[in-house]
Amino acid sequence: MRRYDLEQLGYCRSCLNEVYGLHLKRDNVQISYCMNHCKRCGKVKNIVVDVSSAKRVRLFMVRKDHVAGKAVV
Ligand SMILES: [Zn+2]
Repeated sequence: MRRYDLEQLGYCRSCLNEVYGLHLKRDNVQISYCMNHCKRCGKVKNIVVDVSSAKRVRLFMVRKDHVAGKAVV
């Protein structure tokens, strides 16, 4: 998943963790400069715009599973 996709997703860290089964810590993510409404939970939070490269691979793999319909949110 590219940085662009994450920005488009507009999820906060806890939503990313929940949806993709990740355990992202604050150190693993880069957040937006301004707080914004999370597109999933609707709360005003720090939106994740980038994740560390190791976690990004995992995110990409999970995302492919979603596309293939193996994992349903
Ligand atoms: Zn959220």
